Amino acid sequence: MNCFEPRSPGVIPIELKNGARVKANDVAPHGVYRPNYNILTPNMRSPEYVQMSTAAALTLGIMSGKMYRCECTRCLNLLLTYPEGCRANCAYCGLARHREAERDYADRNFIRVDWPAVPLDMTIDIVARDGEKTPFHRMCISMITHPRSDEDTVTVLKKWIARIDPSTLPVSILSNPTTMTRADVERLHELGADIFTVALDAATPEIFERTRGKGVQSPHSWKKYWEILMDAREIFGPQKFGAHIIVGMGETEYDALRLVQQLVDLGGHSHMFCFFPEKGSLMDHLPATPREQWRRVQLGRYLIDYKGVRVDDMTFDDSGRVTGFGIPQSELETVVGEGIAFRTSGCPGKFRDDVSACDRPYGDSPPSNIASYPFQPNKTDLRKIRRQLRLVERKA
Ligand code: SF4
Repeated sequence: MNCFEPRSPGVIPIELKNGARVKANDVAPHGVYRPNYNILTPNMRSPEYVQMSTAAALTLGIMSGKMYRCECTRCLNLLLTYPEGCRANCAYCGLARHREAERDYADRNFIRVDWPAVPLDMTIDIVARDGEKTPFHRMCISMITHPRSDEDTVTVLKKWIARIDPSTLPVSILSNPTTMTRADVERLHELGADIFTVALDAATPEIFERTRGKGVQSPHSWKKYWEILMDAREIFGPQKFGAHIIVGMGETEYDALRLVQQLVDLGGHSHMFCFFPEKGSLMDHLPATPREQWRRVQLGRYLIDYKGVRVDDMTFDDSGRVTGFGIPQSELETVVGEGIAFRTSGCPGKFRDDVSACDRPYGDSPPSNIASYPFQPNKTDLRKIRRQLRLVERKA
């Protein structure tokens, strides 16, 4: 048995399938809904409602509170929402279908945090009111696997662009290839979306199949994801498409970095996530990615994406672990010392091309042991990163 094997999804009683509980209660929503707020989950649907990360809700000013060492997030992720939820069953994901008996969709944790549901019009009003003073650098519509997802993404995008200048606040699409056609990709581009991303998540076809395909009764296929990725490449053009990769689901460091290289060679970017055992997911019994593995892949990815280093210049041991980054030690020290390689990766914001707007505070780790830094690492952080980054050859 593979040691990264997900648990098997259980059987869902028919009366709890497809958001039946929320639809039967049919509570009308009023304003912002905070997950697990001791009231019945209202019957909320996109495009009228969207969900956003707790960090985005704090930044927007519709929730109060503070985040550890972060004054705000720079990316406003708008996640489509329906009582039926996402119809896929990805093993590492808190939104997956197998949770429908246990927790209503709008109450599920996703990348470690709660996602309040907010009326779309209220969200647009606040961002339009703030104009150029908005703290956000980018908006991202996050699709899920649902029959309404394509049409509602178009509606959200149209409503957004009618009020908010995309040159002030560009829009990314985190797509759901399973329900999409090339024409859907073209339509989103024509309507003004700036960047199109595909969450491959798995670094190899085998891991994809095991964690989000037939292995967990989920509808996704590696082939279809690549088809839409290649459509996006042609339609959105160089530097305007990318893929998500989760590191630590059983792939080698070489597997991950080879995929990063493939994406760069195609003209795109990779956005990386460190595997974290999401509570309630089918992989919540597995260990988070060891920090030294994560740091090596994070650094390798940054060098390939932004410093012109090729995966073929790097060296790997028999287990596929990085033993050399293919550049002189002094140059490597400079890149490490800059710290940007260890920040959250994603679509760019307004600061510089290699600093992501999408900072996802603590989306892949607890604040006590940060994987992706949602801010510029300071001297203490860099000391810790250097300790974590021991090269394999130095250990020998
Ligand atoms: S398609 Fe996306 S939202 Fe749905 S279960 Fe998979 S990773 Fe989660």
